[in-house]
Amino acid sequence: MKDENCIFCKIANGEIPSTTLYEDEMFRVILDLGPASRGHALILPKEHFKDVCELDEKTAAKVLPLGAKIGAAMKKSLGCTGFNLVQNNGTSAGQTVFHFHMHIIPRYENGPAMVDWTPGKAEPEELAATAQLIQEGLQTRK
Ligand code: AMP
Ligand code: ZN
Repeated sequence: MKDENCIFCKIANGEIPSTTLYEDEMFRVILDLGPASRGHALILPKEHFKDVCELDEKTAAKVLPLGAKIGAAMKKSLGCTGFNLVQNNGTSAGQTVFHFHMHIIPRYENGPAMVDWTPGKAEPEELAATAQLIQEGLQTRK
C-alpha cells in the first residue's frame, strides 16, 4: 500500500526525483539530503510502513542484507572503514519521516562514530527489573 501524503512513498516509487544508488522491485536506496557523512544513504521500501513495528516479514528479511551489501560497497568505493545501520522509530527516537527507512552512514578514520550515545551505568538489580518489565510486555498482546 502507498500513502498519498507520504514523501518517501513518492520518492521510493519515482514520483519525486532523488539521487538513487540502487533500486529493485521492493526497495529504492537514495542519498540522504542532509548527510551525516559523505555517502549517507537511506533504504526505502516501495510499500508504506510507518515504522519497524509495521514492517512485513518479507521486507524485514531483506532490509538487513541490503544494508550490509550497500555498506560493503561504500567501504570499497568511498574509503570509509565502517558504517552504521540506523533505524529510528517514533519522534522520541528521532524519527522525522514516518515511512520506514534504514540509514546507512559511512564512517571514516578520525571522523565521528555513532552520534548521541554516551554509555550510562546501571546496577544489576535495575537491569533485572528492566528485563522483567520487557519480558512482561512480550507476553501481552497489544
Ligand atoms: P529520520 O530522522 O530517521 O526520520 O530520517 C529522515 C531522514 O530523511 C533525514 O536524515 C533527512 O535528512 C532525510 N530526508 C528528508 N527528506 C529527504 C528527501 N527529500 N530526500 C532525501 N533525504 C531526505
Ligand atoms: Zn510512505
